[in-house]
Amino acid sequence: MSNIRFKALELAMTRSRRQMDIFPDKVSDYFGELAFSKAVMRDYMSREAYHSVMRAAETGERIDRGVADQVASAMKAWALSKKATHFTHWFHPLTGATAEKHDAFIQPSGDGKAIEMFNANELIQQEPDASSFPSGGIRNTFEARGYTAWDPTSPAFILDRTLCIPTIFVSYTGEALDYKTPLLKASLALDKEAVAVCNYFDKNINRVYATLGWEQEYFLVDTALYNARPDLVLTGRTLFGHSSAKDQQLSDHYFGIIPEKVIDFMREFEYEAHRLGIPVRTRHNEVAPNQFECAPVYEEVNVAVDHNQLLMHLLEKVSKRHGYTVLLHEKPYAGVNGSGKHNNWSMSTDLGENLLSPGKTPKSNLRFLTFLVNILKALDTNADILRAYIASAGNDLRLGAHEAPPAIISAFIGTQLTETLDLIEKLGKKALSKTGESNGNNINIPRIPEILMDNTDRNRTSPFAFTGNKFEFRAVGSSSSCAKPMIVLNLIVADQLKKFRNDVDKLIAEKVRKEEAILQVISRYIAESRRIRFEGNSYSEEWIKEAAKRGLSNIPDTPHAMKSLLRKEAIRIFEEHNVLTEREIRARYEIKLENYVRKIQIESRVMGDLAINHIIPISIRYQNQLIDNVKGLKEVLDNKTYVALSKNQLDTIREISEHISIIRDRVIKMTEARRLVNRITDIEKQAVAYKEKVLVFFDEIRYHADKLELMVDNEIWPLPKYRELLFIR
Ligand code: ADP
Ligand code: MG
Repeated sequence: MSNIRFKALELAMTRSRRQMDIFPDKVSDYFGELAFSKAVMRDYMSREAYHSVMRAAETGERIDRGVADQVASAMKAWALSKKATHFTHWFHPLTGATAEKHDAFIQPSGDGKAIEMFNANELIQQEPDASSFPSGGIRNTFEARGYTAWDPTSPAFILDRTLCIPTIFVSYTGEALDYKTPLLKASLALDKEAVAVCNYFDKNINRVYATLGWEQEYFLVDTALYNARPDLVLTGRTLFGHSSAKDQQLSDHYFGIIPEKVIDFMREFEYEAHRLGIPVRTRHNEVAPNQFECAPVYEEVNVAVDHNQLLMHLLEKVSKRHGYTVLLHEKPYAGVNGSGKHNNWSMSTDLGENLLSPGKTPKSNLRFLTFLVNILKALDTNADILRAYIASAGNDLRLGAHEAPPAIISAFIGTQLTETLDLIEKLGKKALSKTGESNGNNINIPRIPEILMDNTDRNRTSPFAFTGNKFEFRAVGSSSSCAKPMIVLNLIVADQLKKFRNDVDKLIAEKVRKEEAILQVISRYIAESRRIRFEGNSYSEEWIKEAAKRGLSNIPDTPHAMKSLLRKEAIRIFEEHNVLTEREIRARYEIKLENYVRKIQIESRVMGDLAINHIIPISIRYQNQLIDNVKGLKEVLDNKTYVALSKNQLDTIREISEHISIIRDRVIKMTEARRLVNRITDIEKQAVAYKEKVLVFFDEIRYHADKLELMVDNEIWPLPKYRELLFIR
């Protein structure tokens, strides 16, 4: 039997390039041709219908029946013109993936023929049999079904000749069973509270929306090698594998020349992304070998989230055509960098202004500072909620591994802005001492834009960094839906802005001038949220100590991080802004823990299987070869020479036995631990037990298996090695 690793290597090394045969000349010729965009709607619908959809998209107002009919028939006409044969409601259940169930447009016409049909009912609402999606018990106690409902704020699109209609997914009793519903609600909350605060400065602002530009990191691995690694196939990461002699030490991959076959793949997936209207723009090599990144131009948050989900799907789909498999796991390989998904986030007004762009006048500067400081304050109060929403078994392996931000949430704003905030803090105190006297126009806000525009100081280690006109949240895991961090960020900022308005209005009621009241409140917030700001190296040991002194939380694992979701104040925020009810929060909490338990359980099983069925037998085979060899030496050599020359081999034989016996012993113990932990019925306790009683065996088992990898004859080692996974492309 030839070794599967060598078969895979042969396939991988002889794989030829695949170049797209027809590449249209200009991106603008085909950009968005598969999306039911505003431009398409204008073409296919009456003016009134178009405006009514736009209004609904902006305000969440219901669309009336007549308009829905028009939209449905426009969508049908457009989709048929693009050769679509099916339609589906496309939604994001709590599995974190996307879900769809296709229906054909076809309707028998009774005379042996058929016609294409698609009506408002099918557009607006569907009832997928969704009883197998996680619901945290919500559906069991009430109604077994859920329904999907059209989200007019995100354009429908055509994928594989199927019209995909973005929808929310809720239970019959109205509980959200997806990520989109709370995201839309959090966006509405932010809109309401941010507009109210904007109106202190400008009465003409009617709408504020969050903007998101994500950066997606991923690994590529040759599909033949991937298939020869059961751990990659079943868990998305390598559970074994000694590090390669060379990996990222020389930093020669980062921003290097993109390999030719990889470029072929990138061009093809970008082409497909562009046709769907996903504005991907940036591509480059990342730090680890075979790690890459792509990023789009930012969009309104809901659309950006959908586009990221769609892009992850495209990456997986298109990579296969090129003989690659995309790894979206946060930590596919030990010892080299893992993958994140930076979420660049800001807020924009309906007048097209970025609220995190410093203005040109003292008044607009004050507005900029108001939003900046409220964000810092929101982060300081709610860091643990944000942490909980990015927690996952995969991200646990990455956060705090000295290559990604630690599990401590802090914000970086740069020296210049720090100085400005220090100044405001002082100014505010002064103003406070002479309330009512000073003239608002004289408020001496420093002119920030000049300072910031060419201020390129960057801190790559901060989890939440201000980068000139947006915040970059870097702790998000590469496989996560952006919806999770975006729900929390929009919500906590909305909640903070509401508190801010209360504080300011209170002062105004006491006859303090508006600008001065604002200044006083932000001055106080600057002082109160000071501890969340950190300008130094977030990867360092000193920061971990310093953060502990400041009382910032540092929760390294998912089961403990998740507990913050049930904090009274956390539930209050979600309920007060109608984003999630306590029942929904508890359901989500359970689903998350359940998911965590399943992931570790699967990993632990795969680890046991690989150790016992792959690694140990091969090691024994090699050991037997050595034993035969030693026996042979004994036969042919005189005793003295034999003793001198066989020592090395005998040592190796002994070492192999030691490694094997430790591996076997730990796998047995781990399996026994799993058996006991599986009996725990309280999911919270079970998740902690999986972490403390099962996961703890991984490192030791791996250590000894990786040692065997270095000893056993390369010719018979069954699992593709790190140097092969990371360097063949
Ligand atoms: P990098 O962080 O790698 O230096 P950039 O700063 O150019 O790259 O942008 C990173 C991402 O930030 C891009 O996806 C970009 O669209 C996004 N971005 C830029 N401005 C905003 C904004 N106002 N709101 C949200 N995202 C933004
Ligand atoms: Mg960036």
